[in-house]
Amino acid sequence: MTVLEDARAALSTGPLCDSCLGRLFADRSFGLANAERGRSLRVSVALEDDEPFEPDEDCWVCEGEAARFDEWADRAAAAVRGYEFDTYQLGTKVPPLLEENDRLLREDLGLSVGEGEDADRTDFAGERLKTEFNREVGKRVGGRVDAEVDFERPDVQLTLDLATDEVEVQVNSAFVYGRYRKLERDIPQTEWPCKECHETGIKAGEECPGCGGTGYRYDESVEELTAPVVLDAMDGEEAVFHGAGREDVDALMLGTGRPFVIEVKEPRRRDVDVEALEAEINEFADGKAEVEELRQATHDMVERVKEHDASKTYRMDVEFGEPVDEAALDAALDALEGATIEQETPQRVDHRRASLVRTREVYATDGELVDDRHADLEIHGAGGLYVKELVSSDEGRTEPSLAGELGVDAVVTALDVLAVEGEDEPFERPEFFRDGEE
Ligand SMILES: [Zn+2]
Ligand SMILES: [Zn+2]
Repeated sequence: MTVLEDARAALSTGPLCDSCLGRLFADRSFGLANAERGRSLRVSVALEDDEPFEPDEDCWVCEGEAARFDEWADRAAAAVRGYEFDTYQLGTKVPPLLEENDRLLREDLGLSVGEGEDADRTDFAGERLKTEFNREVGKRVGGRVDAEVDFERPDVQLTLDLATDEVEVQVNSAFVYGRYRKLERDIPQTEWPCKECHETGIKAGEECPGCGGTGYRYDESVEELTAPVVLDAMDGEEAVFHGAGREDVDALMLGTGRPFVIEVKEPRRRDVDVEALEAEINEFADGKAEVEELRQATHDMVERVKEHDASKTYRMDVEFGEPVDEAALDAALDALEGATIEQETPQRVDHRRASLVRTREVYATDGELVDDRHADLEIHGAGGLYVKELVSSDEGRTEPSLAGELGVDAVVTALDVLAVEGEDEPFERPEFFRDGEE
């Protein structure tokens, strides 16, 4: 059959709108909207048959939905008003009944309907209603909002639900990357829930002795000193702190700082001035913590900071059980530099865990005596190296160790982290930033 014969047959099935008629031939003549195809065919059939021209008001296939593209676009644009976003994606939930109508029309005409619901679009004559909806409403939304379509991970996901007659909005998180320093001891990286009272602050009807009734073991955390400022600036619902590992609660984080990402859920603002934000956070954190190199990051930066292999540089105060001289310390440090260390799981980490030996490299060592019982050391090692045990030997569970090399007891009395750096490449790759720049 010719296109005109198919169109005539389609029009004889009942009232059919221009979009639903034209959609049968959506793969012909690129550059036309389906409604234009349908309108032209309706006119052509009327001329060929010399019948009066009658546009259909009703449509048994889409039940009038295809006449509502502008209305849906208005509603979609209204639904995201008040949210700042650069990218969006639009999808449509078409009720099974309407999908069935689209299929029945093709069956009536002997046109291909493909295999089953998920059949490839090319097996389906013309185009599905859902596809037309996504494109036509998507295009119209594009004219109403200042944003680009992104099929990968848009800032905002709009879903038109034709069955419930509602626009669903999903506002995806925004991310700020940076590096933090922790300048006071006894501050955890993130909120530390009290286990004694399961965060309730109450134990056996009394104020929990483990947390003084707060539900948290510590009053402050790096998260609480930084994330609320970002949450406020982006006007979101919740902020989550993601760190590239964490230092001990009693350790400082100094030097170049530790990479982190603050995720803000359902932000109303995204394009924040990161320099102003940095200054605000540093004022809020009041010298207990500070951040630098803040940048707007992509969603993938969360996994990046969590998974990227990083080496660590530590500074330590070490105390010896017996006097040590400078030559012996230098020899011990030289022996450890470049060494591969075998470590059983430290006793402080888990007494019960079955002994597991891991090997980690020490890249560089440096240090000097403060007096014959005390030293100030700096160690650069692979991620996962237990440095307290590298010093003490953990009763022989770490080999070699500083204590072992010196033949005297050695213990770390204070620990600072000076650097957390990517092993093979830096954390800061352009593809993880919203501006995509180096
Ligand atoms: Zn229709
Ligand atoms: Zn408690």
